[in-house]
Amino acid sequence: MGLDDFKNSSISKSSNKAFNYKKLDEKLESIVEQCQKQFPEKVEIDFIEASPKLKKHAGKAYRDQNIEDGRLEYSIYIRIKKSLAERGGNDLVMVVLHEMCHCYLYQHGIGASEKDVVFQWLCGRVVADPSGLFRGDKEYDKIIKPFIEQDLPEIDQ
Ligand SMILES: [Zn+2]
Repeated sequence: MGLDDFKNSSISKSSNKAFNYKKLDEKLESIVEQCQKQFPEKVEIDFIEASPKLKKHAGKAYRDQNIEDGRLEYSIYIRIKKSLAERGGNDLVMVVLHEMCHCYLYQHGIGASEKDVVFQWLCGRVVADPSGLFRGDKEYDKIIKPFIEQDLPEIDQ
């Protein structure tokens, strides 16, 4: 397929998905599309999919290197824990935004970790959860949650 086919979509390449939860993946794709407006330029993501294999992480962003026609190509994609994708809600939106922040940095050649200031700033800017560690604790409920409820973008799920 030509590039034009994907002009209006952030899911830009044919996918190498490992799983096939069509309904859940469509829901995740729709969330990505709606979250794009939080970023000043398009976040390049080859695909997003629900994964039954993610246990420790709520989501994960990947950057794979492959050689295509003798050229080095990067494939950037996201997997979201299947149970979270099913549950939905603000937690899901925050996790998708978090992974999109990783992808945004990847596409700019930056492999930042959660500890890096640039990643934390980006998460704060787009109202993503920077670590997942805050969720559920007292400080999170008291200090962070009200800001999230005020600023998280409206996302149809
Ligand atoms: Zn992360």
